[in-house]
Amino acid sequence: MANNRLFEVDEWKIRTNHLDKENRRLQESLTSIGNGYMGMRGNFEEQYSGDHHQGSYLAGVWYPDKTRVGWWKNGYPEYFGKVINAMNFIKVDLFIDGEVVDLFTDTIMDFTLELDMKHGILTKSYLVEKNEKQVRVEVERFVSLDQKELCVINMKVTSLSDSVHLRFVPTLDSQVKNEDANYEEMFWLPVAAYSNQLVVETKPNDFGIEQFRVAATMTNRVTHLENTGSLVTPMQVNEVFEGTINVGETAAIEKLIVLTTSRDGEIESVGERSKEISVKVSEQSVDELRVQHESLWLERWKKADVVIGGDAAAQQGIRFNLFQLFSTYYGEDERLNIGPKGFTGEKYGGATYWDTEAYAVPLYLALTDQSVTKNLLSYRHNQLSGAEHNSRQQGLDGALFPMVTFTGVECHNEWEITFEEIHRNGAIAYAIYNYTNYTGDKEYLIDKGLDVLTGISRFWASRVHYNCQKDQYMMHGVTGPNEYENNVNNNWYTNKMAIWTLKYTLASLELAPEKKLVLNLTDEELRKWQEIIEKMYFPYDEERGIFIQHDTFLDKELRPVTDLDPSDLPLNQKWSWDRILRSPFIKQADVLQGIYFFQDEFTIEEKQRNFDFYEPMTVHESSLSPSIHAILAAELNKMDKAVELYERTARLDLDNYNNDTEDGLHITSMTGSWLTIIEGFAGMRTTNDTLAFSPKLPRNWSHYGFHINYRGRLLKVMVEQEATIELVSGEPLEMKVYNQSILLSSSYTCQITHTESAGA
Ligand code: BGC
Repeated sequence: MANNRLFEVDEWKIRTNHLDKENRRLQESLTSIGNGYMGMRGNFEEQYSGDHHQGSYLAGVWYPDKTRVGWWKNGYPEYFGKVINAMNFIKVDLFIDGEVVDLFTDTIMDFTLELDMKHGILTKSYLVEKNEKQVRVEVERFVSLDQKELCVINMKVTSLSDSVHLRFVPTLDSQVKNEDANYEEMFWLPVAAYSNQLVVETKPNDFGIEQFRVAATMTNRVTHLENTGSLVTPMQVNEVFEGTINVGETAAIEKLIVLTTSRDGEIESVGERSKEISVKVSEQSVDELRVQHESLWLERWKKADVVIGGDAAAQQGIRFNLFQLFSTYYGEDERLNIGPKGFTGEKYGGATYWDTEAYAVPLYLALTDQSVTKNLLSYRHNQLSGAEHNSRQQGLDGALFPMVTFTGVECHNEWEITFEEIHRNGAIAYAIYNYTNYTGDKEYLIDKGLDVLTGISRFWASRVHYNCQKDQYMMHGVTGPNEYENNVNNNWYTNKMAIWTLKYTLASLELAPEKKLVLNLTDEELRKWQEIIEKMYFPYDEERGIFIQHDTFLDKELRPVTDLDPSDLPLNQKWSWDRILRSPFIKQADVLQGIYFFQDEFTIEEKQRNFDFYEPMTVHESSLSPSIHAILAAELNKMDKAVELYERTARLDLDNYNNDTEDGLHITSMTGSWLTIIEGFAGMRTTNDTLAFSPKLPRNWSHYGFHINYRGRLLKVMVEQEATIELVSGEPLEMKVYNQSILLSSSYTCQITHTESAGA
């Protein structure tokens, strides 16, 4: 991987001098930018006729794309929701002596492409020669953190020759498609068009989903060239600026684009709002707009940066992950969630998955205000009726939260996922526990959490069945987190999540018995839950002392991944699906996901046995996989393994480990590098109302450090040969370090106990 890097290793930058036409899609994914409201792949403003994927997306602007399956099954969702490719608003065609500059076909020299993560700015520069004339082009782009509707493009063209006739054509173009559209349809219809504004809306649909209207207004501030015309068509508008420049002269265009949507106001006023904001931002220079934007990125970094000494690639990895996560979601809008591809691609769209609760909640709890996680929880609470609908669709009670959604209603249409991958419901319940346990705030649990927990518990109670021969409850026909096996019986992880939810709901009801009446919970129903808890079946192998992934897992031909020829990997691109399903190879943490969630229920020996059994068969072909294994490996003192898996999670996209980053970045799994450092290497735990650390230092790192929020306090942790925990603000805190109780009132330092690896 390391020899094949697409971008240089730099602690704050994603940078290259190579215009990689072979891997343009990959470069585009890796230079994506966003501000939570909108974002786009690292497409060029100028023309690029080679293979690439033009993609700009607006958060929450989605379309219900009619389901397409080979054979319809009862209960299938009618549509697959996707955040749709918005109009191409970044476009600025550039002409030299009447010929368009095309970065694919033209001779491009002295090329630089750079994403500055510290300040959230994407830049490129190059020399291009046309008609024996040379110009240098420099472009900067950012989507403002300060004015979320604003995208700024600042292009400068300096001539190295005399008499260069230049033309800029800034354009708004809504003739765009989703590459993943089921029927190759376009999703946009025209509403209004003017030379500097385009208003479009999504097509009507048969599923009762609202149509979204979007307006883009561009303000083009051009120096050295004259406005010579414009083109206005229903789906595309542009303005034309032309003139001649000589050696050393620079022509420049500042294109300020303001995008508004019907999500934030009356549908009729979308265009007007876009104009109003345009007028306001146009009063400011690009320098002023940039300074405001940059200062907000700097503020985010102040709270969230993780520093790593001695390993620049690891440092770049974590910063890239934090940058892309915060570009996707910073918790400002409770109607939004964190899509697995964010604004960087289409597969998995910007829809909501269990990834948020299982992987993102811990990071947002520690790095942002408590209200951000509360927003994520409320998002599910607001969608409870959709989850109840999903459960009814399956002929069951209670609430089944969806695998993919915008509204709470399931919109994933592969049967093994829609009908079987029901473990996702457990993660929604677990996030409520996570929030309550981390913050100490029980109000949410009682006020709203119990509604969700009760719905999920009712689902589990109706989904299990009673096996009278064994006098045990079981759960058949499921798919666990390991999607490389379907329709299995008694997936240990799913059974565990179900029973844990029932227990947690019962315990939480003790805190607010009055809720039983509100939720129509009878004693009989609660007794039934208790019986299921007591009689649930969990597959276990006495001989090996391990939890069995599901009933027949041990009947497989068990062998480690190291037995495979490297050319077989990744399996999902090399093997038939049937071969994968029959193999013992595991896509992502399954039993180990459960052990990770409930860490203090298991002894070190149990963790060790299960890790040693399952990890060698795991191909980590879900980006969610390496981090969970890394955290457990660190606890088991297998530091080399933990570091290897850290790299795999932190640099998954930067080094294209799974050979699929061209489709977009793996946003939700980007929390994995942070989780590995904080929960793995620093050993942070928050069980029983006690914050605890057990820091270890990876062999090649000289140090690492980070901040966390915990119950109204800000803590700074620095781990080198000593570990120092500093109380930056807030009340003194009783906590534990290496299992010793301490009172942290200003700063505490101790020697670290493990620097050496115990091997992988
Ligand atoms: C994983 C799922 C995950 C989804 C979206 C799949 O490859 O197996 O667990 O929810 O990706 O990230």
